[in-house]
Amino acid sequence: MRSCRRERGRSFRLAARAAVFAIALVLALAPVAAGAGARTELWDGQRAMHGIADLLRFTPRSLDTVGHQQTIDYIKAALAKTGAVVTTQRWVYRDDAGKPHKMTNIIARFQPANPRRVIVATHYDSIVRAYRDAHHPDAPMPGANNSASGVAMLLETARVLSLLPKPPVGIDMIFFDGEEGPKSLGAGDPNWRALGSPYFAAHLHDFYPGRKPEQAVVFDMVCYRDLHLKQEPFSLAAAMPEVKKFWKIGAAIAPHAFSTQVTRYPISDDQTALSQAGIPSFLVIDFDYEPFFNTTQDTLDKCSGASLQAVGRTLLQYLYTP
Ligand SMILES: [Zn+2]
Repeated sequence: MRSCRRERGRSFRLAARAAVFAIALVLALAPVAAGAGARTELWDGQRAMHGIADLLRFTPRSLDTVGHQQTIDYIKAALAKTGAVVTTQRWVYRDDAGKPHKMTNIIARFQPANPRRVIVATHYDSIVRAYRDAHHPDAPMPGANNSASGVAMLLETARVLSLLPKPPVGIDMIFFDGEEGPKSLGAGDPNWRALGSPYFAAHLHDFYPGRKPEQAVVFDMVCYRDLHLKQEPFSLAAAMPEVKKFWKIGAAIAPHAFSTQVTRYPISDDQTALSQAGIPSFLVIDFDYEPFFNTTQDTLDKCSGASLQAVGRTLLQYLYTP
């Protein structure tokens, strides 16, 4: 009797141990599946919309303005809650007239010890005035889409990453300064050139003494309520497999927002300098933003939480899909 009871107890313990082992096995194998662990439903478009509204309080957010520094402080404060290792890259840029501009790129590193790196980037500076506005070309340019949407995209992604199991790659989020050029007029300046991303690319070794990042994805103008993301030619030339991968994930999440069409013209943005530095890089942008582009009408009501969420959830799934 005693031995029999003991045997029953033992077989029950063995069965329980087998069940625990089976559960552990399932959990251990789960991250191997493509995209597992991403929990994309946590990425919240309305939170991102609030982020854009916050940034609009600092307009203009262009070089040498109070709003520029307020934007830096805002980004750093948001990143401080995520557990990422945040550093700034500072330098002084002298323009053609010899005028100095204080520049700051902000870099947030997730899993800094992971040798596999992927860059997720945007620019945070805005243009200084609404030069394309037919009625008020000297008025401030709010820049809800260009450039607050990219910043909100990264900050909401950073928040969600802080809640989730680690993805297979270490992520470096970069908030570039000076994408709108030395006059902060973007395409309104015939001598436009991006300032922050080429500086970062020229000092790549400071951040990557060994291997370069495996790829980079750059976001700009991603909140438009009628979002149609076309594939960009420079990006296809530099990182075609990554563009295809990103768009395939996106088409499954939001078919109306991800188009297989190619943009009419190549678009130079912060992906250009990164690609030239040998990092396969691509741009996610909806450049069909008329008649609002770089006018006083680039305001929050042109954006939607649904558009931001479509792109944000695609990014999250992309980062968890090796
Ligand atoms: Zn932009």
